[in-house]
Amino acid sequence: MYNAKSMKAEEFICHEEILDTLAYAEANKNNKELLEQIIAKAKLRKGLSHREASVLLACEDEKLVQEMFALAEQIKKDFYGNRIVLFAPLYLSNYCINHCVYCPYHATNKHIGRKKLTQDEVRAEVIALQDMGHKRLALEAGEDPVNNPIEYILDCIKTIYSIKHKNGAIRRVNVNIAATTVENYRKLKEAGIGTYILFQETYHKESYENLHPRGPKHNYAYHTEAMDRAMEGGIDDVGLGVLFGLERYRYELAGLLMHAEHLEAVHGVGPHTISVPRIKRADDIDPGVFDNGIDDATFCKIIAIIRIAVPYTGMIISTRENQAVREKALHLGISQISGGSRTSVGGYTEDVRPTDTEQFDVSDQRSLDEVIEWLMELGFLPSFCTACYRAGRTGDRFMELCKSKQIQNCCHPNALLTLKEYLEDYASPATKALGEKLLQAELPNIPQEKVREVCLERLQKIAQGERDFR
Ligand code: SAM
Repeated sequence: MYNAKSMKAEEFICHEEILDTLAYAEANKNNKELLEQIIAKAKLRKGLSHREASVLLACEDEKLVQEMFALAEQIKKDFYGNRIVLFAPLYLSNYCINHCVYCPYHATNKHIGRKKLTQDEVRAEVIALQDMGHKRLALEAGEDPVNNPIEYILDCIKTIYSIKHKNGAIRRVNVNIAATTVENYRKLKEAGIGTYILFQETYHKESYENLHPRGPKHNYAYHTEAMDRAMEGGIDDVGLGVLFGLERYRYELAGLLMHAEHLEAVHGVGPHTISVPRIKRADDIDPGVFDNGIDDATFCKIIAIIRIAVPYTGMIISTRENQAVREKALHLGISQISGGSRTSVGGYTEDVRPTDTEQFDVSDQRSLDEVIEWLMELGFLPSFCTACYRAGRTGDRFMELCKSKQIQNCCHPNALLTLKEYLEDYASPATKALGEKLLQAELPNIPQEKVREVCLERLQKIAQGERDFR
């Protein structure tokens, strides 16, 4: 019996169903009537099943693809407005006992420098990030129970939240560490994390096992069921992702959407975010050896289809992608981007971008200020908002807000306030001038008059030195 609610993630995201979906999609890729029906359903903004989304992904009719792109952009605007949330990764440790063949942190890489931040170094890195203007971090670490046990990660989170530096404070710490136990997820929840992020890497079990030949990450079921354990441990915002390039992209899209369906069916709430990393060159890793690389056009199509299939889910693109690709992706549904990122352990306190402990080459090497200015030039509203998380609007409460479109009365003013803080404290003169104009233009877009008035009052108070309105 194929029942999403009673099946474990690994059983539900099953190989046979994915193959059947791909065959169905291939058989229908020129079925105009069905394609139009699916696009019409997508326009209702209630999402699509993995089978429907897979048919759209197989479709090569340029006119229909353009229609999907326009719809993806419109759906993003309807649910998230023109806001783009900014964050930065913080690499804590690259000690790792796994053997992921695509990752330079693999245990057999003997020439990469191994490094783990002390709490003083965490403090220094965070101050460097705060001095750029960051308020949200994604913590990254290899898996190593001796060097990076959960206690180490918890200490780092505690250190980060305790740092009060000038006008800065990190307000949300998301965590991207290896699959762990319910008990450890509970500890992360108690430490006040935002989203728990874990990329599946690939949903193809056999490839997964070959790509992770040894180490704890080899266990496909344990990895695939991590989000269920995280939710059992009380974390209600979880972030999915696939590392595109490892397996066939159509297989991955079907698996990813089935994972989202599983979470929705079992826990009543889908993923808070979906990331779309593509494999990159790194130390002893040559992405060319993975023969499932996807070109930019296919990548964009995947992003647009994820957006229309899971309209309420945040979508993240990192600095693995260059400026041009990030610009296209922003128009297809991305709602969060990283900026000013360094993927080396201790990289933010170095004057020159270090490469010796880097996890992958960063394609977008612009500063956070350049990214903010660029976003505004493109008509987006950069946001450092963390209000929902701090007010407890996570999991299904956040999704309800998003679905009811009340987000415009809530997130929009918060975006304006946090942008104003950035402009006052960190922006270059050019970014500040552009930002002030944007604030004036965006204020009338807050629908409720009362909310608008409060926002205006707070903007004035920020100019006079007050910070962090809640
Ligand atoms: N160690 C944790 C784990 O195994 O899930 C997570 C941290 S790891 C630093 C974050 C992600 O980086 C991985 O899940 C993988 O998808 C991605 N990654 C690894 N090697 C990469 C590469 N060469 N290019 C792009 N992304 C890569």
